[in-house]
Amino acid sequence: MHIHEYQAKTLFSHNNIQTPKGILISNTKQASKACSELGGSVWVVKAQVHAGGRGKGGGVILCRSVMEVEVACDKLLGGQLITPQTDAKGLPINQVLVEAGQNIEQELYLGLLIDRQTQKITVLASTEGGMDIEKVASETPDKIIKFGVEPLGALSEKSCAEIAEKLGLNAELTEQFNRALLGLYDIFVQKDVSLIEINPLITTAENTLLALDGKIDFDDNALYRHEDILALRDISQEDEKEMTASEYQLNYISLNGTIGCMVNGAGLAMATMDLIEHHGGSSANFLDVGGGTTAQRVAKAFELIQTEKNVSGVLVNIFGGIVRCDLIAEGILQAIEKVGLNLPIVVRLEGTNAAAGLKLLDESGVAIHTESDLTQAAIKIVELSK
Ligand code: ADP
Ligand code: MG
Repeated sequence: MHIHEYQAKTLFSHNNIQTPKGILISNTKQASKACSELGGSVWVVKAQVHAGGRGKGGGVILCRSVMEVEVACDKLLGGQLITPQTDAKGLPINQVLVEAGQNIEQELYLGLLIDRQTQKITVLASTEGGMDIEKVASETPDKIIKFGVEPLGALSEKSCAEIAEKLGLNAELTEQFNRALLGLYDIFVQKDVSLIEINPLITTAENTLLALDGKIDFDDNALYRHEDILALRDISQEDEKEMTASEYQLNYISLNGTIGCMVNGAGLAMATMDLIEHHGGSSANFLDVGGGTTAQRVAKAFELIQTEKNVSGVLVNIFGGIVRCDLIAEGILQAIEKVGLNLPIVVRLEGTNAAAGLKLLDESGVAIHTESDLTQAAIKIVELSK
């Protein structure tokens, strides 16, 4: 689960990480009051959406008067923000953070993630923070400092200070850095975070260290034990299809290819996608309908796939273990009856009552290609969807 910048900053400030003063508003009428509460003469208006790259997408606007703040709020609020990290539609801007403009000396990067290779929580830091950190990481990876925390130990102040030294921070900033990094590590561990990032972490002309941005991704599997985090969820930022899918307990992820897939079991779904790719096709989605799926869920899954815009064919691959293939066949026929079928479809059924399921489909009079071999099914759908 993702949260907004302003929410991440609230968590930061509760954990010894300093942030600029800011006020969240959802209406331009609140802008001038926010400016006077913040004081100063430079403000930054920041669109609150669940995507990075907002600066590049025009979602972070520097303002030198209250009027400019109002114009910026008018421009952003109620609109959609498209950034290099969103799709072409962008994400709705329902709130903006009006923040005190800062005197930036240097933009650093500081993040924590789980490095699956070393199996450690890993600190990433760089003097080259800011809007082009992805470029830094890919073109000059030596500019990223990496430090793996021992799983049974904790992050020590000494390690923090060593990282600060590599970043070239002076004594006063080092002390602030240590507190910030320890705070970040605490949030990471206590809230079951999978990625936490401050980019940029700035040093100011006043010799302070401030988190100017904040990104936190939480591990969905652990959300059940963090009610406070779950309360921060903003469904306006989530993919509509993925949300409908989760209502029906379907694991659904939109992808860029052209072949819609409906499979039971995540492992089988991945194997199916690999085979499609191997035979020259590409998947439009990942969809796991679950081990003990029902005809109703199959029907819903079918509807979801049909709404994916690039789909030019559908491959259904069900292994009947707990679930009976004849029930799946009924679900497919029900769905086709309900939503119509204007795409080629290949169905591969294997396992419990597979023969009965395939027979039902073959005798239905609906144009469905049935297969009992997965490789043949993949080859067929790639061919038909061309
Ligand atoms: P994103 O990463 O989504 O582009 P950021 O919050 O990192 O958004 O903002 C982009 C850039 O805007 C920052 O790298 C920084 O240079 C500038 N910026 C953001 N907030 C402020 C602020 N309060 N004062 C001055 N500059 C800011
Ligand atoms: Mg940023």
